[in-house]
Amino acid sequence: MTDSELEKFKKVLKDENLKLTPQRVEVFREVCNSDEHREAEEIYLALRKRDINVSRSTVYRTMDILYQYDLVQRMDIGDGKWRYEHWLNCHQHDHLICIRCGTIVEFINTQIEGIQKDVAEKFNYQLVRHVHQLFGLCKQCQDTPVSVK
Ligand SMILES: [Zn+2]
Ligand SMILES: [Zn+2]
Repeated sequence: MTDSELEKFKKVLKDENLKLTPQRVEVFREVCNSDEHREAEEIYLALRKRDINVSRSTVYRTMDILYQYDLVQRMDIGDGKWRYEHWLNCHQHDHLICIRCGTIVEFINTQIEGIQKDVAEKFNYQLVRHVHQLFGLCKQCQDTPVSVK
């Protein structure tokens, strides 16, 4: 977690009339220092594993706020659960998701980025965020017969 990330987080908490507690900072730090795509529950468990005394509701609430203010990104990979990831100071990317094992691959395609911009301009939209997900079978799952599992 960089100083500028912490400053942004402080401002968000202030806007929400919430106190800057060590627990909330730890939630944000946990997300900032990881490149994984995790559910709030997994973030909660990771914090508990690090002996951070934080409540489940603080983690869930903090993740909601971080998302509202664009400090994290979240996505549904088809199972109805939100996976959160670090988004600040991180190059915006898209995702390829394996529908069988859930493996997530990140990619950046400048042509896709360009097309999105053109579309937004054409309809006079100012782009804030986009979600682009490709669902399929990863190489390993293609090579593994379904019956084996
Ligand atoms: Zn797979
Ligand atoms: Zn990602």
